[in-house]
Amino acid sequence: MSIIQSNITPSAKAADFLGRQHKMLIGSEWVDARSGDTLEVLNPATGAEIARIPHGVAADVDLAVTAARNAFDNSDWSRMNPPQREKLLWRLADLMEQNIEELAELESIDNGKSSVVAQHVDITVAIDFLRYMAGWATKIEGRSVQASVSYMPDAVLHGYTRREPVGVVGAIIAWNFPLLLAVWKLGPALATGCTFVIKPAQETSLSVLRLGELIQEAGYPDGVVNIVTGEGAVAGDALVKHPGVDKLTFTGSTEVGKLIGKAAMDNMTRLTLELGGKSPVIVLPDADVAQAAAGAAMGIFFNSGQVCSAGSRLYVHKKIFDNTIADIANIANGMKLGQGIDPSVDLGPLISQKQLDRVCGYIDSGLSQGATAVTGGGRAGDQGYFVKPTILVDVDQNSRVVQEEIFGPVLTAIPFDDIDDVVRMANDSPYGLGASIWSNDLSAIHRLIPRIKAGSVWVNCHTALSPALPFGGFKQSGIGREMGAEAIEHYTEVKTVLMSV
Ligand code: NAD
Repeated sequence: MSIIQSNITPSAKAADFLGRQHKMLIGSEWVDARSGDTLEVLNPATGAEIARIPHGVAADVDLAVTAARNAFDNSDWSRMNPPQREKLLWRLADLMEQNIEELAELESIDNGKSSVVAQHVDITVAIDFLRYMAGWATKIEGRSVQASVSYMPDAVLHGYTRREPVGVVGAIIAWNFPLLLAVWKLGPALATGCTFVIKPAQETSLSVLRLGELIQEAGYPDGVVNIVTGEGAVAGDALVKHPGVDKLTFTGSTEVGKLIGKAAMDNMTRLTLELGGKSPVIVLPDADVAQAAAGAAMGIFFNSGQVCSAGSRLYVHKKIFDNTIADIANIANGMKLGQGIDPSVDLGPLISQKQLDRVCGYIDSGLSQGATAVTGGGRAGDQGYFVKPTILVDVDQNSRVVQEEIFGPVLTAIPFDDIDDVVRMANDSPYGLGASIWSNDLSAIHRLIPRIKAGSVWVNCHTALSPALPFGGFKQSGIGREMGAEAIEHYTEVKTVLMSV
């Protein structure tokens, strides 16, 4: 499991973008931070600086929210009809498609992930989602109601509801799928007629800044989309607390999500939270071992395990436990580690030194509590932030590695005998984002699905996301849903109209 050394350099287009002095998009202008300061952006495969971004502060956030407010209240945007909004979303999706290779390359260099995955998953899914949301622009509906009011017995009443855009949306996102997470929030905001201020993760702002250029090229009116880069505790905090923001949408850790939720209540700001997870993968005794092992490996090692719905807890029926673990270990041992820009690489680095320390700390904690590493078990190489794909067995359900979100390529595996036991262990978590069941026993699957406390249950697949289906968490994995028709609800307010005619 050595790290491949490759000499691949960025394409001229990506190199040109990386080499620029990066600015923030506020209203119609690309601007420096009011602080005049910048923050370094590191290549996670090497730790070397690849760019600097503006260190946005509260004054920048204020300007961005003001621009978004003006665009919402007074611009062509506020008068734009739904088919025009649909057309603009299609134009943006088309521009992303025309620039897909550059976007994927930037994502790969900035985040460390495989450029192949960035292109065929992150950016392709983002484009599909924008097109799906484009269709919603013309399908936002209220209800017509046969209303009656007991103290107005003679009145003839006409009651109906309207769904209206919620207003200025403040979005804060994590670094694991930078462009995709941005688009999951941008799509419904633009489909419904909201305006938007986004603060990307400070580690990975580059693809969102490039997206800002495409948004301008698509022809969105000034101020509809604004981008403020910077730190969570500074720019993020200012956005969360800004009274001009009507709705907040956040993807990140449960810890920060709770802070944001509390702050949002002070202004009664609408709120959607997509938070952490510790998703169980349940392999029933009849499962096809090779298929389940391949799915479980993808479920935990994809994106180096930096996936909120990663299948990080594996529960396999004891009859097929050893064979399943052996197959997953084989897959792990065959993975090529290296910088994601090399298309032959399977597993890129983690995002940062902080994340490397955190993940290695969890592995050490598991080992010190009696776990056995079937494969992996720590850092790979001594440059960049690589961790070997790791499988821990002999783990206790109550141990930290089973209970806490690691957010790295670390799988814990526990055998089970009884279906009630596996349901209890699967639900024994503060999180409830996703779960997968591997089986071809339809009756067993259908009986199990309602017993799992998770926002998504996948059968014979894991983290399969369709734009048409909602995604979000039970319990401490969040509040609200992204994607699907449900997303539209979160970006609109319901207005009731009652007429006496
Ligand atoms: P994080 O919560 O530290 O940061 C996420 C974002 O919040 C970043 O943009 C950061 O700058 C900002 N932020 C940090 N502190 C803030 C504050 N006080 N006020 C306002 N903004 C603040 O999370 P992370 O470490 O960057 O990301 C990893 C976490 O995100 C994991 O727990 C993962 O499960 C979760 N995640 C969830 C989903 C989902 O859809 N459910 C998707 C991706 C990541």
